Amino acid sequence: MDKIKQKYPKKSFGYFLANEGCDNPMDFYIFDKDMRNDMKEEFEKYGEYYKIHEDAGFLASDEEVVKFHKDLLNKRLHVVGVFHSHQRHPAIFSTVDIDLHPSEELWHLIISVRTLGSPQIKLFCHKNKVVQELHLILED
Ligand SMILES: [Zn+2]
Repeated sequence: MDKIKQKYPKKSFGYFLANEGCDNPMDFYIFDKDMRNDMKEEFEKYGEYYKIHEDAGFLASDEEVVKFHKDLLNKRLHVVGVFHSHQRHPAIFSTVDIDLHPSEELWHLIISVRTLGSPQIKLFCHKNKVVQELHLILED
């Protein structure tokens, strides 16, 4: 949470990582650069909200994605989940979140920081556009 709070009011997004052969995350990666405006038109198809709020939506840079995947290979880690923060909305798995979710094999953690002092955290997965909220156990 500390890194997400540090980035606030900027949006945080990234991956949860696990060791080979394991599904429990032991680390995470937060992308540094947000290239959201490189797909501005794509986001704006989701409505006026995306025209008004230039920080709605996110996109990592190609360079950082390549570097991230090289590091994964070197550290023998794999991606088990994705996450991003919501600055103004509760921790819902929105239509755009579902549409842009990278893989049905991964779960998706949404962290709402609209009340920075007490963030709302929810975990989702989806198969064939059917969203399911998962039980979340937080340790440390
Ligand atoms: Zn979202």
